[in-house]
Amino acid sequence: MQVTIVGWSGSFPGPSSPASCYLIEADGFRLVLDLGNGAVGALQRYTGLGDVDAICVSHLHSDHCLDLIGYSVFQNYHPDGPRPPIPVSGPAGTQDRLTRALGSERRTMADAFDFATLTPGTTDIGPLRVTTGHMDHPVETFGFRLTHAGKTLAYSADTGPTGELVKIAAGADVLLCEASFVDGPDRPVGEHMTARQAAEHASRAEVGELVLTHLVAWNDPAVSLAQASEAFAGPVTLASSGLRLLG
Ligand SMILES: [Zn+2]
Repeated sequence: MQVTIVGWSGSFPGPSSPASCYLIEADGFRLVLDLGNGAVGALQRYTGLGDVDAICVSHLHSDHCLDLIGYSVFQNYHPDGPRPPIPVSGPAGTQDRLTRALGSERRTMADAFDFATLTPGTTDIGPLRVTTGHMDHPVETFGFRLTHAGKTLAYSADTGPTGELVKIAAGADVLLCEASFVDGPDRPVGEHMTARQAAEHASRAEVGELVLTHLVAWNDPAVSLAQASEAFAGPVTLASSGLRLLG
């Protein structure tokens, strides 16, 4: 399994990255995990849009799903003809939400994608064993555990501190964890985590490596890195565009 970080900017695109998007490749199968604002452009540096086998959406905030609109144009209006629909797994209401975002068009989101509703549990997507769990965020949000050939990636999506993340990340080789906040008073509860909280989850889950992502453009990433490094003894890395993990 090889993971490529396509977009890591939290909440909105930053000057050097689109919003959340990760490409997972295993045995020639390509899974796109989240497709936030701007990500469908950067994704084409790493794969053709016609070569993606499946897409998973962690939740319906725009910085995690909205570039499915642009992707639908590639699918529906390609000069060689409409492309076969790509399976998209997301929270309940994903198709409806994206259909409203697209508006009234000749070809629809349902023409471009085969939508399926995620529920907590374990399933296979291509060669990947995928376990999902509910995170603590204002809208229904799934964290992911992806396993292939003895290697495991855990992904927090967006979440406040939660034991569910420790559960799905237990013993993972890499935890790709959101770190939207830096230390400070009055952080909202049940929305996001500080880099230090991400590191505390990495410690409790006993993961091999922590990669901080969903970094918001108004924070200094060096501060996030320093604060996380104080709370996790293993390697801590900042997500960056094109960074490859596990491969
Ligand atoms: Zn969110």
